[in-house]
Formats: sequence, C-alpha cells, structure tokens
Amino acid sequence: MFEDLDELYQEVIREHSTHPRNFRALPSPARAVDGHNPLCGDQVRLYVAMDGDRVADVGFTGQGCAISRASASMMTEAIKGKSREEIRRAFDSFHEMVTTGRSDAKGLGKLTVFSGVHKYPVRVKCAMLAWHAAIAAMEGGVAEVSTEQAEEAPSPKGGEA
Ligand code: ZN
Repeated sequence: MFEDLDELYQEVIREHSTHPRNFRALPSPARAVDGHNPLCGDQVRLYVAMDGDRVADVGFTGQGCAISRASASMMTEAIKGKSREEIRRAFDSFHEMVTTGRSDAKGLGKLTVFSGVHKYPVRVKCAMLAWHAAIAAMEGGVAEVSTEQAEEAPSPKGGEA
C-alpha cells in the first residue's frame, strides 16, 4: 500500500479496512453526520449515540480508500465510552501525529499505526475525515462536514466546554 509505512502498521490498516469495526448504522436518536473528502472521494456517515457527556455507541457506513476506512474503524473503537473532552484531546493528538509524524502522542494507542501518513499529505485528509465527523456528531447541529472546510477551520480545542 505505502512502502514507507512500517509493515506491521500496513497490516493493521489493511485488516481494519477489509473488516471495519462498528460498520453499521445506528437507529435514531443517534446523531448522523455525513463526512466528505472531495480530494479522494471518501464518504463516511458517522452515527454517534451520546449518553450525557459520553459516547455510548458509534457506528459508520460509507465508502472510501483503505486509509479512510481503517481510520474510521479504529476511531470508532477509540471513542466508544469516552467523554467529549477525552475525544477532543484524542482528535488534537491524532491530528498532530498525522500532520507531523510525531508518534509519541499520549493515549493514542493503536492509532499510532497512522503515524506514517504524514509522509503522504494527500492522505492526511483521508485519515482525518472520520475524526472531523465524530467531533461534528458529538457537538450536534451540523449534518455534514467536508475535509476542505474542516482543515481550514481551527481544530476543535478542549478545555472551554
Ligand atoms: Zn481517501
């Protein structure tokens, strides 16, 4: 897939892309957000069911490249049960990792398989797509996000909520 990515990382990404976790729609009243990455053609519909401040359940449907599918799959595993604040922090850490390659980000766990993505700037948006959708779904009020808008806006920062 990407020769510079560590072989083990590639294997994890390939496996999640082939067998995505939480690949399902959630019934109402879960919030649904459509995410688009026009540069690559990735589309994801992300469903988030909140329980107070926490993500009780999450699922996604859609189609896209291997990176976008694997990232959505692993993102859903990473945010289930987490609070808004924890997810905002994970978003910031993940964004920093895929844009700079810094892979010592605390708390990213398995998500560090995407650290090599920073070498492929076009792929950063594939990796970020599901995360942008997750933030939008958590916050509510937005039904669609595009990586083209999202990457120009300041990333969501925690701490103010
Ligand atoms: Zn893509």
